[in-house]
Amino acid sequence: MDRAEALEYLLNTQPLALATDFDGTISEIASTPELAAVDPRSRELLTRLADRLPLVAVISGRGVEDARRLVGLPGIVYLGNHGLERWEDGAAHVEPLALSYHVALRSILEAARPALKLPGLVIEEKETGASIHYRLTSDPAVAREQVISVLRDLTEDTGIQLVEGRRVVELRPSLDVNKGTALFDLLTRHPVRAAVYAGDDRTDLDAFTGLRRWGQQEGGRSLAVAISSPEMPAGLRQAADVVVEGVEGWADLMDALLIRLDAENEL
Ligand SMILES: [Mg+2]
Repeated sequence: MDRAEALEYLLNTQPLALATDFDGTISEIASTPELAAVDPRSRELLTRLADRLPLVAVISGRGVEDARRLVGLPGIVYLGNHGLERWEDGAAHVEPLALSYHVALRSILEAARPALKLPGLVIEEKETGASIHYRLTSDPAVAREQVISVLRDLTEDTGIQLVEGRRVVELRPSLDVNKGTALFDLLTRHPVRAAVYAGDDRTDLDAFTGLRRWGQQEGGRSLAVAISSPEMPAGLRQAADVVVEGVEGWADLMDALLIRLDAENEL
């Protein structure tokens, strides 16, 4: 589908929901997670979309408070740590089962630290998980192997799983919760008939699956948007309905959507 066809398809059926990943989608990938910032144009577009659409959501692997602080927009929903954490209508929710993994997570990290003293390795602790970023190490391929081999042993039989992303290995509770199940739940709770989701990484494939499942089950229209990048994971392009070029390409698509929504309002 090209962009014009995608917009036509979506806008034929309303109300419309828009959901987006954070890192690599509305924010350029930064060398460390703390340095990431929302692309100003994307923030402006999301602000305007939140005024016009009944549901706008940011779905991130980051902790929900972190995502909310970085995006900084009221009136939208935040799903954090791949759906284990949610901020909606002024209140934070954490998947209760995830909290029971807190002790196991902390002890795995504690045991892993001595073996993971690589220069440039960044360990990000979250309420219900952790991310080990190896982007800044001198040899990321070697660092990845080392991180995985250390964590694979330590997580065995703990109920904690390893999930990979763009130059990151994540520790997550082995629960049936991911970006896709969280997006599915979110959409079914809102009276929308069409939904678009954009993402750049492996876990966004889950979101695409959840989006499609919602479309099939609820008879809604769904549009999966892949953000292309030099680090684009295998399968993302094939799984998407539309592929856009980087953060800027997604902003262009949101912009075109707004123009169409505004034009409809003026009729
Ligand atoms: Mg991302």
